Amino acid sequence: MTEYIPTIGLEIHVQLSTKSKMFCRCDNNAEGKEPNTVVCPLCMGFPGVLPVGNATAVEYGVKTALALGCAINKFQRFDRKNYFYPDLPKAYQISQFFFPVGEHGSVAIDYLGLDRKTKKEFKVGINRIHLEEDAGKLIHTKDATLVDFNRCGTPLMEIVTEPDINSPEEAKAFMQELQRVVRSLGVSFADMEKGHLRVDANVSVRPKGQKELGAKIEVKNMNSFKFMEQALKFEIERQIKVLEAGEKLQQETRGWDSKSGTTILQRVKEGSIDYRYFPEPDLPPVVLTDDQISQWQNSIGLPSTLRATAERKGLPYSRVFELQDKDKLMLFVGVMHMRVELNPIQVANWIEKFDNEEKLIEFMDVVGKHNLSPAAAQKYWETGQIPKVMDEAVLKQAVEQVLTNNPDVVARYKAGETKLIGFLIGQVIKQAGSGADPASVAAQLNKLLAQ
Ligand code: ADP
Ligand code: ZN
Ligand code: MG
Repeated sequence: MTEYIPTIGLEIHVQLSTKSKMFCRCDNNAEGKEPNTVVCPLCMGFPGVLPVGNATAVEYGVKTALALGCAINKFQRFDRKNYFYPDLPKAYQISQFFFPVGEHGSVAIDYLGLDRKTKKEFKVGINRIHLEEDAGKLIHTKDATLVDFNRCGTPLMEIVTEPDINSPEEAKAFMQELQRVVRSLGVSFADMEKGHLRVDANVSVRPKGQKELGAKIEVKNMNSFKFMEQALKFEIERQIKVLEAGEKLQQETRGWDSKSGTTILQRVKEGSIDYRYFPEPDLPPVVLTDDQISQWQNSIGLPSTLRATAERKGLPYSRVFELQDKDKLMLFVGVMHMRVELNPIQVANWIEKFDNEEKLIEFMDVVGKHNLSPAAAQKYWETGQIPKVMDEAVLKQAVEQVLTNNPDVVARYKAGETKLIGFLIGQVIKQAGSGADPASVAAQLNKLLAQ
């Protein structure tokens, strides 16, 4: 039997959690509001109004594009996408066609396989990320179709992946990572069930060994991770069955029907629609500076950018990679940001023992102020007591005392029984009190024994 390889590319819409809509001052949170109450002449498409771009939406778009490894367009522009539909009162959507926020990104994902043990890895290219506005909502009843314009003008970010996904599990792992990314950036609530995160999947299969991809079939209407996985599994098996029966597949759009657990044909593609894109004349272009972009890059707090920041703060690259944990990286960067004078290597040495910035800074301050040796710092960490730093003269006296009291041990040490140093260190600490730390005692002992 022929083996088939599935290919999936995703087109994702992310609803941005800005305060106001994309081009007007309407509240962007219309959840649970009466239909057609969160609207204004602008988002209703009245003539004679002028849109004003939402700067926060641009910031959110750029941050996401950076987090997904995209190249950022410093010059961005909005374009009109012309089409008529009852949920679109202007008869055009403002989108970004020619100069999107970001392009050519890539995301490395790892996830646990079905056995919940094997770690699997794959990479997904990001074709582009652009900003646009949402349309209204059509509500189909028995006798009529109603329209609610509350959602008109809601800021959306569209993310288009390359066809780099090869299984429903990978698609789910990618979407979960994307959800984590936009949530941790604070740019979207990203709840699939609430429509903050919507995904359309392009699916094809091809016989193993064949180079070119099969006919792509678009699957819509999957509003949870579970449904997406089920829909993709079903669609891949359906396509394989069609090919195995000797039939051909053609480009079409299908919808997931959760009741029957199948995908249902919606329309067959007859050529591509010409949207007559042209630059939006009512909005100036967005022009970003390098400074602005690197400031956003530094603020996004993802491992790759955190590592770069940690290195900039003076930690050697090899040590940076020891800080595997994102929280530890954040802690390091945070502490070095608060206290530039701290020694980055010392901070990294202690980072494992702390999970709180203030505590670690407090600790480093005590170590610095009392000039504690690593051993004394360890003692302080264990007991919370600041070890008395031994006066050089006092320590020297204690060492001399111990050497005088133990002439035979000294003789055996000098004859080659070097492990007796441990015994001598113990004797000095006993003599001098707990303030003596082993490292300085050993140094002093070695010095006197060598005389
Ligand atoms: P279109 O011109 O129809 O918009 P694109 O080439 O722009 O098609 O791709 C749209 C989406 O479909 C992208 O996410 C892409 O990764 C995915 N895609 C393209 N070709 C295939 C294919 N043969 N199988 C699966 N996904 C595909
Ligand atoms: Zn409005
Ligand atoms: Mg396309």
